[in-house]
Amino acid sequence: MSWDLGTRLASALAAASTDRVVFDLTGIESQYDRLVRELPVTVRFAMKACPVDEVLTCLADRGAGFDAASPGEIEQALRLGVPADRIHYGNTVKSDASIAEAHRLGVRTFATDSVQDVAAIAANAPGARVYCRLTTSGEGALWGLSRKFGCSQDDAVRVLTVARAAGLTPAGLSVHVGSQQMTYDAWRQAVDQLADVLVALRERAIVLDHVNLGGGLPALGYLDRHGRPLEPPLDKMFAVLREGIDELRRLNAAPLDIVMEPGRHLVADHGAIRAHVYRLTERRQTDGELMHWLYLSCGKFNGLYEMDELCHRLVFPGHADGEHVAAVVAGPTCDSDDAYGAAHLRVPKALASGDPVWILSAGAYATSYMTQGFNGFGPLPHTVTRAGHGHAEAA
Ligand SMILES: *Cc1c(COP(=O)(O)O)cnc(C)c1O
Repeated sequence: MSWDLGTRLASALAAASTDRVVFDLTGIESQYDRLVRELPVTVRFAMKACPVDEVLTCLADRGAGFDAASPGEIEQALRLGVPADRIHYGNTVKSDASIAEAHRLGVRTFATDSVQDVAAIAANAPGARVYCRLTTSGEGALWGLSRKFGCSQDDAVRVLTVARAAGLTPAGLSVHVGSQQMTYDAWRQAVDQLADVLVALRERAIVLDHVNLGGGLPALGYLDRHGRPLEPPLDKMFAVLREGIDELRRLNAAPLDIVMEPGRHLVADHGAIRAHVYRLTERRQTDGELMHWLYLSCGKFNGLYEMDELCHRLVFPGHADGEHVAAVVAGPTCDSDDAYGAAHLRVPKALASGDPVWILSAGAYATSYMTQGFNGFGPLPHTVTRAGHGHAEAA
């Protein structure tokens, strides 16, 4: 399984004469189809990874539901015609008002990880279904999601016991092994944790109807800091997950639905940014070292929020041949975090201001993390393309 810039995305990027994010809907659809072929799971796409109407609609048409983190996301999904029973409130962080609003909008399944949150759900969404998130180490992930969410295995038993006593339905357990998880062992460990809690709950006569294995499945197109492909072991991850799902189903006293909430995995490699070169410069740092810096029109605040941690493939059309130099690549703002961390990428020496650059595998967490114009650099518009349709403009 290797990474490849599809021809649709390449031609949409080539056709763009101004900066934008381009999504290949056909690529996203085949990524979804492949996931549900590999794993016996119900998909609830994590909306925050790509809250773009066209992308959400194409996933919903495929049968996906949605993992929403706020009433705002729930409203977006409903507006696109997604039935409320295919949306869950997956954020453990909620106010009384946001729980009540979600309930009013028809959502009946809520993530939780504390008895305080359970009490609030019981008061503001009486009778709802709750699933408890277990904390994971986040090890092996390039974008960790551990400390802020989830509770211990013992606490999960307590939380779901309290939920039952409060008139809620203790419906499930969830984990998130961290985003862009690079090791299959993370899922092995998560399955072990889930299995222990399922057994402990059974002893208290609490039988769940689903387990939510979260997000974290990797994209294939990122680079490491030396510009080499990351190559996460995706096939092995699928094998470990299939085995784990069988094991969890064997342990449960009732049929167990398996939910996953992929975000990055479904969209990252099927979106790309068309930006342009500001300037390639050569400067001596205080230690006397001569360094090249390549400044682009796009950076941390308008599409590349994760550039500190994750490095993208850059394509400079028309510059494949010719001399290349190692450069630090950075965005246009007056913020020094607006750069590819310590990475030194090979860039063409002949780049001129205004030359186009394609930033690949940038389809996840691009539009959602854009500021409204930090330093006057506005959010990028987006365009979608799909097989047989050329590309349509959208803002
Ligand atoms: C962000 C998030 C996801 C998606 O994570 P990816 O690593 O993008 O797959 C899934 N579930 C929850 C609860 C999240 O917060």
